[in-house]
Amino acid sequence: MIRRVKGTRDILPPDSLLWQKVEAIANEIFSGFGYDEIRLPALEPTELFVRSVGEGTDIVAKEMYTFEDRKGRSLTLRPEGTASVARAFIENGLGQRPQPVRLSYIGPMWRYERMQRGRYRQFAQIGIEILGAYSPTADVEVLLALHTFLAALGFDDLVIALNNLGDPEDRVRFITELKNELAVHKDELCGDCQRRWDTNPLRILDCKVARCGELVAETSPITAFVSEDAKQHVDRVTESLETLGITVERNPRLVRGLDYYLRTVFEIISPELGKNTVICGGGRYDRLISDLGGKAVPGIGFAIGEDRLIDVLPQSFKESVLDRKIVAILPLGDTAVAAGLGLARVLIHRGFKCRTEVTGRSLKAGLKWAQKNKASVVIILGEQEMQQGEAIVRDLERGQQESVKLENLNARISEIMTGTETV
Ligand code: ATP
Ligand code: MG
Repeated sequence: MIRRVKGTRDILPPDSLLWQKVEAIANEIFSGFGYDEIRLPALEPTELFVRSVGEGTDIVAKEMYTFEDRKGRSLTLRPEGTASVARAFIENGLGQRPQPVRLSYIGPMWRYERMQRGRYRQFAQIGIEILGAYSPTADVEVLLALHTFLAALGFDDLVIALNNLGDPEDRVRFITELKNELAVHKDELCGDCQRRWDTNPLRILDCKVARCGELVAETSPITAFVSEDAKQHVDRVTESLETLGITVERNPRLVRGLDYYLRTVFEIISPELGKNTVICGGGRYDRLISDLGGKAVPGIGFAIGEDRLIDVLPQSFKESVLDRKIVAILPLGDTAVAAGLGLARVLIHRGFKCRTEVTGRSLKAGLKWAQKNKASVVIILGEQEMQQGEAIVRDLERGQQESVKLENLNARISEIMTGTETV
């Protein structure tokens, strides 16, 4: 047997219906806020991520699927979406369009990670980006769009954690001070943090090892190094969000895994999954486009981990998607087969979900099949009844059965399925 690649998943029905619905709602809400979809390639030049995500990050240092194509070019399966959006912005001259430019994306990402719940080697992200706006209002809009989307899925217990990373200059001063304060304890840091000390010291703040966390808790927070400008920016973001009724938790230790973020950074945490399994991460990246060779165009956005999001969807949302009633159609005999499929065609136009029996089961076996398919109603097209212009409709939920004239069938099915009948 050939097995799927480690860390990848098959998403089977009915779970795939949840994915489709979540994506449909994402498209509806984000498009409503003006963020229309950009479809990006899964393959990018490796250099794109080295230069944007950053060499010292976990992603670039150890998580990328990088290989040479047949002509010896180094390609990478994209580990995230923002770098590709930035590349596409520059390459397609989106700076010429009315600013700011709003974009959304949905699709698979690849990272070579240790598999565990909520951590896969192929996973999907849903993200939006707004490019060309320095104003804190853009940050507010992005967070409002995120909040609106999550609320539409029925979430009411998610926490938005937010921090101010200041500008890159502020961060240089912060990192110097962080290292000063941690220097005496350097030996007590974990192996990963010893490495981060030189390559990406900011990530020490994000270490999940308990002792590292204790040491970090004793250091001065990054917010103490943030310029007045950056401070006002992020304060205005949180104030506007409060006005909109959206609570954010300020977390002065929050950093993100990518080098390009500055000022506003945020995460969505699910109480169910806990602090170490973040559902969504985002932030502002005003230097990214210029770092990649474009003009100075600011940006802000987020990426939701769709696998993790689906894992914690509210029960009521799942039920609303998965409990769709089914009409089973059971044609008995050759002449009824085409009539059965024709009936399915009419009913799906009316918005019903149908299953037609296509293997030639008998009445008895067919009724069992309908029950196994959890059908609400089964329409039995027997040869004799069809000759009389009738079909038998059996309501499996109420255990009732009746003969219905073919010309009345649609109306009757509608009544039964929507529960508007008056018996
Ligand atoms: P983590 O700290 O969990 O490794 P991250 O900081 O690497 O996350 P981001 O690069 O910010 O994650 O990606 C945004 C979101 O994508 C994450 O919040 C998460 O929901 C999701 N995500 C990231 N890596 C994975 C993965 N390997 N499997 C499933 N989802 C993932
Ligand atoms: Mg990660």
